[in-house]
Order: sequence, then structure tokens, then C-alpha cells
Amino acid sequence: MNVSVMIGVLIPFIGTSFGAAFVFFMKRQLGRSVQRALTGFAAGVMTAASVWSLLIPAIEQSSSMGVFAFVPAFVGFWIGTLFLLVLDKTVPHLHMFAEKAEGHKSKLARTTMMLLAVTLHNIPEGMAVGVLLFALGFTVMMVLDVTLG
Ligand SMILES: [Zn+2]
Repeated sequence: MNVSVMIGVLIPFIGTSFGAAFVFFMKRQLGRSVQRALTGFAAGVMTAASVWSLLIPAIEQSSSMGVFAFVPAFVGFWIGTLFLLVLDKTVPHLHMFAEKAEGHKSKLARTTMMLLAVTLHNIPEGMAVGVLLFALGFTVMMVLDVTLG
């Protein structure tokens, strides 16, 4: 494994571990309003990251198309949105605080459906990391190795 692959694996791992480590500093459960505020903050960070790190670079890469430079990013954005919407409606999964599962009816255990919810959540992140590594010159097999491993 070369140094670039190690960095590509370590940066997401360190970031995720750092964020998850805050659970060790919490003595009690957070208040519902604090949870909602933190969830909103995380949503804002994810939205900002997707705009500045994915959509704007995609538009800049298409600058040779002139006024239509936004079209590939626009089309890709909506394909990705519809892809996740279809998965959300078809894959049985359980959201946080939800009593009722989403997706097709199934007899899967709650833990399995929560695992599927996390998997659905990680698809866009894995794709974003994979696209970034591919743009940095990684081969398809190296990207698959990093994003799936
Ligand atoms: Zn859902």
C-alpha cells in the first residue's frame, strides 16, 4: 500500500474517530433541543461541504461548456438525489428515534435495519471519497480498495 492510499484511508478514519470520540466526554444524554441543534449543524456542514467541495469543482471542471457548465453537475446532483430516494423507499431501514421502519416491509431485526440505515448514509460519503481519490490519480482498484475496505 503506497503513501497516498494510506493518507486516503487515514484522513476519513481520523475525522470519523475524532467526531465519535466526543461520546466519551458526555456524562448524560443530551437534551432533545441540543440534539436537534447538533443534527442541524451537521446537516449544514454536510451541505456546505457538498456545495464547495463537490458541486462548485464539478462546475469548474465543465467550464469549457460555457454557460452550460452547470449541466453535468446539475444532472449528476439529481441522479444522485433520485438514487438515494429510491434506496430510501426500497431498502428496509430504521432512522434514529423512529419506531416504524422505512422501505419495504421486512422481518429484519432492528439492529439489521439500523445497520442498513448507516449503510445508506455512507454511500454518498464513500462515493465522494472515491471520486476524490480517482481525481487524484488513483486507479479504480485502489479506489475500491480504499472506499470498500
Ligand atoms: Zn429513510
